[in-house]
Amino acid sequence: MAHEYDNDLITLGAGSGGLSIAERAASYGQRCAIVERGDIGGTCVNVGCVPKKIMWFAANLAHMIDDAAGYGYDLTSNGFDWSRLVEKRERYISGINDWYHGYLKELGIDEIEGEASFVDANTVVVNGKHYSAKHIAIATGTHPRVADIPGAENAITSDGFFALDRQPARVAIVGSGYIAVELAGVLNSLGSHVTLFLRKHHVLGEFDSLIRTTLLEELAKSGIELRTNCQITHIRRAASGLLEVDDNHGVGLEEVDQVIYAIGRATDLDTLKLENAGVDINQKNFIETDVYQCTNQPHIFALGDVTGRAALTPVAIAAGRRLADRLYNNQAERHLDYELIPTVVFSHPPIGTVGATEEAAREQYGDRIKVYQTRFTAMYNSISGHDVPTAMKLVCLDEQEKVIGCHMIGPAVDEMLQGFAVAIRMGACKQDFDDTVAIHPTSSEELVTMR
Ligand SMILES: Cc1cc2nc3c(=O)[nH]c(=O)nc-3n(C[C@H](O)[C@H](O)[C@H](O)COP(=O)(O)OP(=O)(O)OC[C@H]3O[C@@H](n4cnc5c(N)ncnc54)[C@H](O)[C@@H]3O)c2cc1C
Repeated sequence: MAHEYDNDLITLGAGSGGLSIAERAASYGQRCAIVERGDIGGTCVNVGCVPKKIMWFAANLAHMIDDAAGYGYDLTSNGFDWSRLVEKRERYISGINDWYHGYLKELGIDEIEGEASFVDANTVVVNGKHYSAKHIAIATGTHPRVADIPGAENAITSDGFFALDRQPARVAIVGSGYIAVELAGVLNSLGSHVTLFLRKHHVLGEFDSLIRTTLLEELAKSGIELRTNCQITHIRRAASGLLEVDDNHGVGLEEVDQVIYAIGRATDLDTLKLENAGVDINQKNFIETDVYQCTNQPHIFALGDVTGRAALTPVAIAAGRRLADRLYNNQAERHLDYELIPTVVFSHPPIGTVGATEEAAREQYGDRIKVYQTRFTAMYNSISGHDVPTAMKLVCLDEQEKVIGCHMIGPAVDEMLQGFAVAIRMGACKQDFDDTVAIHPTSSEELVTMR
């Protein structure tokens, strides 16, 4: 059958969101093309989750080498080779990139290399060539921001962190979100001296208070220098090549190898020329969609970080797959439910969280909320002799004590959360937790034995 357009679907951006909708659409027999101006896989694969987790594994090993003495080992570490790890990490990422190129070919998805701009509501132009489609999905993501201060050009972001081929000896990190605390934890564990600049007096502002306070204590205990209520006002490169930093307290820092900004991410929508397609953006420069990922143009969709909602890889993937199910597989109501999205922060120790914080729940439900919480030292840490806390909280609603929030910090909670997130999504109550036989001896058993 002749096609009215070159394609059924064109996806702008080959990151988590763009790849997932194109893959699923192609599996339903749709003719798809995907445009990417950078590396296939987008942020997650190239400068996000994947390289970050590899660095976190390396940082964890540093802790385990320290812990080994408590278990009777007599180990001497002969140092850590940053460039060797980076080389292996980048090789691993190249493998994923190559795999994706092959996979798209196998699925018959056309890869178009370059930057896309809209010509009209059904056409984009890439390197001067026009491509049309019945549906267009915008999944162009975001990029990291730096502050608008004198000397900001001397700073790097998470993208720059992943480009470092040598370990910086002294680092200033600016930001209190998950990327800031993750990078601070990695660098500190691997032996860099880290100063963390926090605009207020806390980290992870949106998280439950149990998580925030426990993590802040651990960051301080770990040797990271915390500068609270503090903002960098000027960055200068000294004759030595090192950086000097002024702050609003007049204290500053001298001889820093890198200043890393992790203060949030922004879209880069100008190049898309959305006005040619009549696609609206909101005041924060994100593309707003309804629950079906529809923009204000009925056949143009947006998904992933560019929509400004729950900026996480599995969210972008789930939104893309559900959208393809709806458009191309007769599942008229299929869409992503943005409630109860579990998330992990790869800090030291890690954090796992799903659902309402105690603070948000109390604001919404008042004294209909009951909270169970515990704090202990895991058996592993008791023997290693390194006093790392584990803290857990369940937020329950009404007499049936439906679990509406679960918040954990401590070793291994990153691998604990997924299963509990299933139960909570299914509407589990405290009694269901109590009725579940514990697995002993583990830390996770504490979640089903709380009083
Ligand atoms: C340091 C860091 C750590 C992270 N860790 C985690 C984690 O542990 N777990 C987790 O779930 N999430 C994590 N994330 C978030 C996750 O990476 C993002 O939520 C996810 O990548 C979003 O996918 P996306 O498809 O919306 O956008 P992206 O993956 O950013 O993809 C967008 C793509 O569009 C391309 N593009 C942009 N404009 C155009 C154009 N005009 N034409 C053609 N191509 C274009 C870009 O080059 C990019 O490749 C992390 C992010 C960072 C920065």
